[in-house]
Amino acid sequence: MSRRIEVRAAVTAADPRWAAVQARDATADGAFCYAVRTTGVYCRPSCAARTPRPENVEFFATGEEAVRAGYRACRRCSPDGPSLAQQHAEAVAALCRQIEQAETPPMLEELAHSANMSPFHLHRVFKAVTGTTPRAYAKACRAERMRTKLDRGATVTDALYAAGYGSSGRFYADAGRTLGMTAGSYRAGGVRQQIRFAVGQCSLGAILVASTALGVCAILIGDDPDALVRDLQDRFPRAELIGGDADYERVVATVVGFVEVPKLGLDLPLDVRGTAFQMRVWQALQEIPAGATASYTEIARRIGAPAAVRAVAGACAANPLAVAIPCHRVVRSDGGMSGYRWGVERKRLLLAREAAQ
Ligand SMILES: [Zn+2]
Repeated sequence: MSRRIEVRAAVTAADPRWAAVQARDATADGAFCYAVRTTGVYCRPSCAARTPRPENVEFFATGEEAVRAGYRACRRCSPDGPSLAQQHAEAVAALCRQIEQAETPPMLEELAHSANMSPFHLHRVFKAVTGTTPRAYAKACRAERMRTKLDRGATVTDALYAAGYGSSGRFYADAGRTLGMTAGSYRAGGVRQQIRFAVGQCSLGAILVASTALGVCAILIGDDPDALVRDLQDRFPRAELIGGDADYERVVATVVGFVEVPKLGLDLPLDVRGTAFQMRVWQALQEIPAGATASYTEIARRIGAPAAVRAVAGACAANPLAVAIPCHRVVRSDGGMSGYRWGVERKRLLLAREAAQ
């Protein structure tokens, strides 16, 4: 009897699924579920419940199979619902909208209440998904409102009031921390902000993801990781680039998941920088649904600049956010593939995938 159990335990221990359960690996969620003979319950790999003894564990490809074998779903991790990562991404996206729309930055308790999480848990989840804290995000939003105003040429005082700084004195006290400089020097172009980045792999090749405190500012795809880092440096010559941050790897994982299945949408804030014209083109690109395409001529017409076809092509080529700003959905008027900043083969693959979904 005890001999049989030993054999079964040995088999479980060698199973990569068992390693995923021990690590509570959320990336394994959806790939399989595990059931515990002693409790009669089945869980997703990331379930926070106590790790069972290996000899009591049984693996199933789907929850359905586990149910057929007589198990019931764990209430703690609801293995058949959306994955924890998806739930977190959705909750954080809603919080970002709440922060962006608030006149004054919401308190952590307020956000925790809306998300139905404890303040501590919310803080951790927010950081894991976005790489930044709710407080830093709120400050960045406010700084961004300020910066947008300044970019449009408003006076510093106008911009202060529009960004919700009650008195200009308070803004100047904050300015060193939010913009990293005074408003005056921002207008002079003295930006030296921090950008975190990491390089990963996806089905399209090497992928570099970079973020400011405000959100994802670059998604670059190519064959050579070093070339991607040089491209990032060229795009943000004055920024301080910070790589190799373990926390940030999770942001990269989220972006890779999105690149693999663009239809899911990317629930991360974006920090899009461009000229007013580029922004209009990129906005129009984001309105092309997955599975559809538009021509350069159509985009030029949609943004109210029908003669600016070449400039539209230029804005597509300058796109800093592969897939998130779907410039791959722009084709020639005759339906031909035309060029793609990240290689025409990748464009073909992306369009074929989207058409199939
Ligand atoms: Zn569970």
